[in-house]
Amino acid sequence: MSSTVSAQPAAPSQKEAKVSVEEKLYLAKYKLDERPHLLVLDQDVCQKCAVISGSPQPCMILCPADVYKWEDGKRNIVSYDNCVECGACRIICPYTNIEWKFPRWGRGLSHRYG
Ligand code: SF4
Ligand code: SF4
Repeated sequence: MSSTVSAQPAAPSQKEAKVSVEEKLYLAKYKLDERPHLLVLDQDVCQKCAVISGSPQPCMILCPADVYKWEDGKRNIVSYDNCVECGACRIICPYTNIEWKFPRWGRGLSHRYG
């Protein structure tokens, strides 16, 4: 007696395939930490970054939650309360100009379905 095992992973169902990132983010819960867990250390470095890398700069291109905004070509405005804690910005910044910590215990992001 022989059995057949498929080498292909099962295709996602129609319902799974249609869930957008925005819909998944909607499932996240967020409790604001009043103390910012993100900090741009030196705005002059962001100016230099804009000249060398162009604008929008790497943190602005990469962040999935639009946390970083280049205001009037002068300042990097950080809306830390939008952060989904992926940690990517501290890796992508070419000048290690972002101080990043997790929000304090019990605050920040939590996922309802793992
Ligand atoms: S990538 Fe780093 S240096 Fe460049 S704008 Fe963003 S925080 Fe500033
Ligand atoms: S950790 Fe992720 S979501 Fe938060 S600011 Fe950085 S890139 Fe954006």
